[in-house]
Amino acid sequence: MKNIISNTYSRKFRGISTFESEAESIYFLLPFKFHSISIDREVLVNEIGDYLIVPQGTAKAIVHREIDFSSNLYRDLVANFFISPTPVPELLNVISTRYRTKKKSLGSFTSLHIFVVTLRCNHSCHYCQVSRAAESKSEFDISYKDLDAGINHMFLSPSEELTVEFQGGEPLLAFDKVRYAVERIQLLNEDFKKEISYVICTNSTILNDEILLFCKNYNILISTSLDGPAFIHNANRFKSGRASYDLVIEGIDRTRQALGHDKVSALMTTTALSLKYPKEIIDNYVENGFGNIFLRPISPYGFALKNQKKNHYQTAEFLDFYKQGLEHILNLNAQGVFFKEDYTSIILQKILTPFTENYVDLQSPTGLVSSVIVFNYDGFVYASDESRMLAEIKDYTFQLGHVTQPYEELFLGDKAKQILNNGVAECLAGCSDCAFLTYCGADPVLHYATQNDMQGHRAFSIFCKKNMEIIRYLFEMLDIRKGYVESTFQSWIHKPAA
Ligand code: SF4
Repeated sequence: MKNIISNTYSRKFRGISTFESEAESIYFLLPFKFHSISIDREVLVNEIGDYLIVPQGTAKAIVHREIDFSSNLYRDLVANFFISPTPVPELLNVISTRYRTKKKSLGSFTSLHIFVVTLRCNHSCHYCQVSRAAESKSEFDISYKDLDAGINHMFLSPSEELTVEFQGGEPLLAFDKVRYAVERIQLLNEDFKKEISYVICTNSTILNDEILLFCKNYNILISTSLDGPAFIHNANRFKSGRASYDLVIEGIDRTRQALGHDKVSALMTTTALSLKYPKEIIDNYVENGFGNIFLRPISPYGFALKNQKKNHYQTAEFLDFYKQGLEHILNLNAQGVFFKEDYTSIILQKILTPFTENYVDLQSPTGLVSSVIVFNYDGFVYASDESRMLAEIKDYTFQLGHVTQPYEELFLGDKAKQILNNGVAECLAGCSDCAFLTYCGADPVLHYATQNDMQGHRAFSIFCKKNMEIIRYLFEMLDIRKGYVESTFQSWIHKPAA
């Protein structure tokens, strides 16, 4: 204070001696943020996702240079890149390498290519997000010409690893198109030599020996829909004739026998009915031989918007469902049953390891276009699966163009740039100073669908509300129930589901 020159009209810098004397006794702050996780605890998170859970008020004490040099906390803060004894940390290279690792997905560009081979379906699910077409209407199948054009675009991707996903409607109603696409891709790949994996997203009700033999020959994975016990599944996923649940379970068994136990996975959608039955849904997955479940909220697109009574609920209700489910899953693990929740595992990988999952909804910059692309049945190209769902309710905001256009126009054109510009969480109000940024992402489609704005306002964002509470809750568990909970969480990250 002795060097401050008092002046009522201007503020002067302190004299050089002030800084010289402080420089000997202060540490330097590295970029970090903090978030309160309970009444008396807060979590500090740095730019590369390392965290420390500490008593409330610690962030303030760090900023005011009140941390004792001889304390363990001081050593932890230095070792974990929250503060530095030198203006530029000695291990700056390590920090930059770790940051690049977190953003590794940016290096490869589009890897997931979704081909919607038909909009036809044999179900009438009340939450259907793509407004399916009747089984007989073959005009809703993709043409061979558009399929060829989509495949050609796919091979222009710089990514060495490609995933081809066939979706619908029910894609197996257009199995001829699936077969054609796989055989053509295999042929072209003799020159391109990329690592290609295939997934068919099917309701599993029309799988037959011919289809399963084809899947076996090309190592194709089956991803099916299972919403839990029959009384929930059949209420959500109506099918005339035989009940959907019995057919799905038969389809899963048949697939496992033909392809192997691990070649079939299942996805559930949480409806208003599901909210009351988290344990029953999870137990159903265990009984059916699955080692994981993705507790997925309903997406506000397509027919889902028309059936408000069955499909609409508050984010707080979903969070309640999620927490009850997670608790039940942890109890199962405590009893020796290895079982994991997928969304939690994706976030935990970001929290507990230097790596990150390429899950489109939790990427920044957004994974739209840069990780995933959709070739729709009518030849139009969309930034993601949810983007084409919006198009089914006549909103073409995320339509990139037609598959017959050149690659550059679709993937690097103005629309793609607009979407990517609005999908960088580091630049979004609210996210830019959020402690959970590294674990979260940007979701321009959801924000556009719910707020008519690709960036969205975080205070009213269902995406933000869900992620902020889930991440806070996980930190609270890691803090209060460390030991068993942390070792269980670690096993989810490092051991694949059965
Ligand atoms: S969406 Fe919410 S929780 Fe996620 S980074 Fe942005 S402010 Fe944080």
